[in-house]
Amino acid sequence: MMETIKGKPIFEHQGYLYIINKESGDKIIWCCRNYRHGQCRGRLHTINGQVIQLVGTHNHEPIHSLGEVAEARTQMVHLAKKTINTTHDIVATGVSKLSDHGIASLPNLQNLKRTVQRIRQKHQNPLPLPTNRDSFVIDPLYIKTNRDRTFLQFDSGPIDQRMLIFSTKKQLKMLKNGNHIYLDGTFDVVPELYFQLYTIHVVYLNHILPAVYVLLPGKYFATSIFQTFLSLCLYFLRQKTKFIQNIV
Ligand SMILES: [Zn+2]
Repeated sequence: MMETIKGKPIFEHQGYLYIINKESGDKIIWCCRNYRHGQCRGRLHTINGQVIQLVGTHNHEPIHSLGEVAEARTQMVHLAKKTINTTHDIVATGVSKLSDHGIASLPNLQNLKRTVQRIRQKHQNPLPLPTNRDSFVIDPLYIKTNRDRTFLQFDSGPIDQRMLIFSTKKQLKMLKNGNHIYLDGTFDVVPELYFQLYTIHVVYLNHILPAVYVLLPGKYFATSIFQTFLSLCLYFLRQKTKFIQNIV
């Protein structure tokens, strides 16, 4: 059985990949993997792995190497979780069985290796939840984005009023070039150790996009570091920003 990186089953049929939409008894209704992002309406029904009905039409061409690539990926994920083979070996094994078409449709090998490393790290070393703010160490895995860009921009260090600021260079640039910013604080999604997630949004190409995420230890952003940070932001933005709104 082929699986997505997250372990969900994939079904391949005539150059299209499907994920499960509904299951009832032995019957599975699959929808095209492009259903969400590409709004593709291609579906099919299977019973015990046998295709019994095709429904709807795809809004894109089939790619006949998708199946073998998904299979190679599944194998690499499995090897990353279950063996101690090196990342290099795992990727080499996965790639070795692919046709030229399959290899051509792979993301670059560095990306593939990073994916394998991430899966391995997550699987073999699930990080324990930290119990206090002043002593936890942030795993290097979480200070970079998937594209290996710096994401943790500021860490006030091992103190009780610890503050973390996440953003990418690109997001900071958007912030710098933006004419409008919005500030917002939420308490809903915050890990137990923190009280508030503060976000700075910026208007970019007519969309409001998040640019900076700040994890604050206190309910009120009274920490002097955060105020310094905000005034720094404002200093840079002063020339351009016409409107700053606090949604809180
Ligand atoms: Zn489709």
